[in-house]
Amino acid sequence: MSMGYAKETICIQSGWKPKNGEPRVLPIYQSTTYKYETSQQMGKLFDLEEEGYFYTRLQNPTNDCVAQKICELEGGVAAMLTSSGQAANYYAVFNICEAGSHVVLSSTVYGGTFNLLTVTMKKMGIECTVVDPDASLEELNKAFKENTKCVFAETLANPALVVLDIEKFAMAAHGHQVPLIVDNTFATPVNCNPFQWGADIVTHSTTKYMDGHAMSVGGAIVDSGNFDWKKYADKYPGLCSPDESYHGITYVDKFGKKAYITKATVQLMRDLGSIQSPQNAFLLNIGLETLPLRMERHCQNALQVAEYLSGHEKVAWVNYPGLSGNKYYDLACKYMNGKTCGVISFGLKGGRAAAEEMMDHLSLAAIVTHVADARTCVLHPASHTHRQMTDDQLLEAGVAPDLIRFSVGIENVKDIIADLEHALSCIETDARMRDGK
Ligand SMILES: *Cc1c(COP(=O)(O)O)cnc(C)c1O
Repeated sequence: MSMGYAKETICIQSGWKPKNGEPRVLPIYQSTTYKYETSQQMGKLFDLEEEGYFYTRLQNPTNDCVAQKICELEGGVAAMLTSSGQAANYYAVFNICEAGSHVVLSSTVYGGTFNLLTVTMKKMGIECTVVDPDASLEELNKAFKENTKCVFAETLANPALVVLDIEKFAMAAHGHQVPLIVDNTFATPVNCNPFQWGADIVTHSTTKYMDGHAMSVGGAIVDSGNFDWKKYADKYPGLCSPDESYHGITYVDKFGKKAYITKATVQLMRDLGSIQSPQNAFLLNIGLETLPLRMERHCQNALQVAEYLSGHEKVAWVNYPGLSGNKYYDLACKYMNGKTCGVISFGLKGGRAAAEEMMDHLSLAAIVTHVADARTCVLHPASHTHRQMTDDQLLEAGVAPDLIRFSVGIENVKDIIADLEHALSCIETDARMRDGK
């Protein structure tokens, strides 16, 4: 067993455990299906009487090895991969919600998650109350209703870089007998383990730092096993009453601490089918092997870039929670050892127009709809990822219209800073032009 190994070791050694004569490297099980000797054996699998693979839409051995590695990194009891971070967040919530349910949602979550919950899931009859992540416990308490089933937030918000006070959110959630689900994509398990602070379920867009090379879209869900569904059986009938699509199995009784992930696999994955391809899981596994090394460099570089930008005359503001003096620095020290991630946001004195102008003069940093990979990249959320939002919604999401999201890669930091230096020197737009004077 690898329990007890440090994260660097888990990243290399966990998941695939070859037996005598088997391949050293995790094989890609590129097979939709699995062979059995008798019809009875296959039948038992369909009844969930026995564990085993029968169809890759539900489970695949390559995927399961990678999910196991992520599970150990987070310190959970069970985990699964999904085809994307969006699918992970959808399954994580929908696994315990249905029409008539209510969710407490942090306002600074990723734009895609905000849409998923407040627009698409609303059409399914699931309502949200949006809360400020900086709200006091008292204010948070007011957001809960009789039909609230979970609280959802991000440990390090994309792109607002708000560090969640995980203990405060866990206290609010548990005070109302519901679990706290957190998306830990930006911090990664290298810098933050939300279960240590009371979160119950963790999700990831593995597309970001975990893959780390911008090669494959993917997601993951990990369960801490700590939330006692059975204690609140009336609230969680999907887990605590018989599932007629499996001859009346009750997940909490049959699968104990693995009930939540088992249900999400055998019911949601079966019916909705957002499986990660084994090929992508293989690539994700290679990314995971170097995650701790890369995160260290991302954070070192980002801190230096943030310090450089802070001292630049054309820069109006810099937001990086790893920078001392930042509003979230203390929370970043408490929950993330001050490390956070490689993403920085900043604004220029020339405002939105200057932001667009500056970006066009960058050459090493590429304009891409991506973040959190080895290559430095840049994006202007108000004109790209968040363009569907009104100015009010942008501000509520912590995304100022002039905000530039700068994802610092693992190149030599001198080259990254030189690129910024050049682009900043090219800006002609100044504050007077922005104000139209
Ligand atoms: C990118 C992202 C998602 C969505 O993930 P995809 O893999 O793109 O579907 C969800 N949450 C956060 C925090 C993200 O950064």
